[in-house]
Amino acid sequence: MGQILDGKALADLRSIKLKEKVAILKQNGINPLFCVINIGNDLSSKIYLRSKKKRATEIGIKQNIYQLSENVTQENLLALIDRLNLDDRVNGIMIQLPVPDQINLNEALAKISPSKDVDCLTPANIGRLWRGDHFVEPATAHGILALLNYYRIELRGKNVVIIGRSSIVGKPLAALMLEQDATVSILHQKTKNLEQYTKRADILVSAAGQVNLVTAEMVKKGAVVIDVGISQVNGKTVGDVDFDNVAPKTSFITPVPGGIGPLTVESLMEQVVRLTRRENAR
Ligand code: NAD
Repeated sequence: MGQILDGKALADLRSIKLKEKVAILKQNGINPLFCVINIGNDLSSKIYLRSKKKRATEIGIKQNIYQLSENVTQENLLALIDRLNLDDRVNGIMIQLPVPDQINLNEALAKISPSKDVDCLTPANIGRLWRGDHFVEPATAHGILALLNYYRIELRGKNVVIIGRSSIVGKPLAALMLEQDATVSILHQKTKNLEQYTKRADILVSAAGQVNLVTAEMVKKGAVVIDVGISQVNGKTVGDVDFDNVAPKTSFITPVPGGIGPLTVESLMEQVVRLTRRENAR
C-alpha cells in the first residue's frame, strides 16, 4: 500500500505560513484583495467559491465576489475586468469557470492585467510559464509540485505521464514539470491505448474527470499516483483513480477528497499574496 500524500494537512500547514506573510503585509498597510468574477448559477462553481472564501478568510485575504447574471454580455464583462484592472486596491482577478456560451472566454482572459492574473491564464503569463520566467503559477499545478516537494519526490529524470490537456491543469503542469527536468507525456481523450504510456510512468497524474479511469493494470509497481479528478457518485466525491485496487501497487498516492483539492485552493491564495508582494515591491 502506497503512502498517502496528505494534501489537506499540507494545505493547512502552508496556510499558517501564508497567514504570517499576510499579517506582515497588513502591518505595512497592504491589504491583499482578491476579486472573483462568477457568471450564472453553476452549482459546483458555488461550492468552489465557498471553499475559496473560507480559506481566504482564514488567511486574512479579502475576497470579493462579482456575481454576474447568466445572460451578461461580453461587453459588460470586459468593462468589469477593465474596472478591476484599473483599481489599485485589487491584487488578483480570476474568472470562475465555466462561463456561459455567449462569453468569449479567451478574449475575457486576455483582458485581465497579467500582474493581477492569479490563475496564470493570460497569454503573456502562459508564455512566461513555458519560457521559465513566470511570476505566478496556476494553482493546481503549484499545489501538485508543493506536495511532491514536501514528500521529497524528485522530478529530475522521471517519466511523468499526465492524463488531461486542459489549460488549467494538464498543460501548465507539464510546463512546470519540464522546468524541473522531468520527461513529460500528455495524454488526452484521443490518445489510443492509454495503458501503453501510463505503465511506463514513474509519476502518473490523472486530471480527466472520469471515474475509475485509472485501474491497477495501468500502473507500474512503485509508481507515484496523483489524482486530480473530482466527480460526484451517489453524493460522494471521488477521483479518476480506482483507489482501492491501485493504492497497493503505488509508492505514494493522493486520496480524493483530501488530496489535490485543498492544495489548489491554498495555492490560489499563495498566488494572490505573490502578486500583492510583487506589485508593492515595484
Ligand atoms: P477538462 O474537461 O477541461 O479537461 C479534461 C481533460 O481530460 C481533457 O484534456 C480530455 O481530453 C481528457 N480526458 C477526458 N476523458 C479522458 C479519457 N477517457 N482518456 C484520456 N483523456 C481524457 O477538465 P479540467 O478542468 O482539466 O478538470 C479535470 C478534472 O480535474 C475534473 O474532474 C475537475 O473537476 C478536476 N479538477 C480538480 C481540481 C482540484 O483542485 N482537485 C482542480 C481543477 C480541476
